[in-house]
Amino acid sequence: MVIKPGIYLQMRRQAAGLSLRQAAEIGFAALPHRDLDRVERQLALLEQDATHVSRAVIARLQLAYDFSREIYEQLLDHHFAGPGGAEPRLCRRCACSEHDACLIDPASSLPAACRWVAADLCSRCAGPGDDVAEGDAAPARSDETEGDNAPAPDPAPMSDPATLQDEAA
Ligand SMILES: [Zn+2]
Ligand SMILES: [Zn+2]
Repeated sequence: MVIKPGIYLQMRRQAAGLSLRQAAEIGFAALPHRDLDRVERQLALLEQDATHVSRAVIARLQLAYDFSREIYEQLLDHHFAGPGGAEPRLCRRCACSEHDACLIDPASSLPAACRWVAADLCSRCAGPGDDVAEGDAAPARSDETEGDNAPAPDPAPMSDPATLQDEAA
């Protein structure tokens, strides 16, 4: 199912736990004389697909919360031209994607990129009751992430005691 571009922005904002007002404040903090009431109204229209915006506004929104401009543009294509192009793969709960994985593991609160546990469900959002298709429709996330927020690599070991001892000997 292809969601509307505005719904995508709304899902990503809600996944970040931000209100419209907070997104307006964070994204547009650098603009002097900004009218936050107006920004908030425009963001609400954006999420209803009642308006669409420039790359400059998208870049500001990305300061406030994490989403993929590429996914948004794919969804805009669908919105304006109808089906036919590639359909982005999104989590049905938080709308994360290969381009902007969730980066915190809710169990440990430690940084960890989520992975697919079903065709349209990520590991962060999967709960007890979810039909998780392990190893079937659930390929691991690609390492070829070309998004702007690639997950951090595994932390390297602090040091290797064996190597240190060799050097000291
Ligand atoms: Zn998710
Ligand atoms: Zn996720």
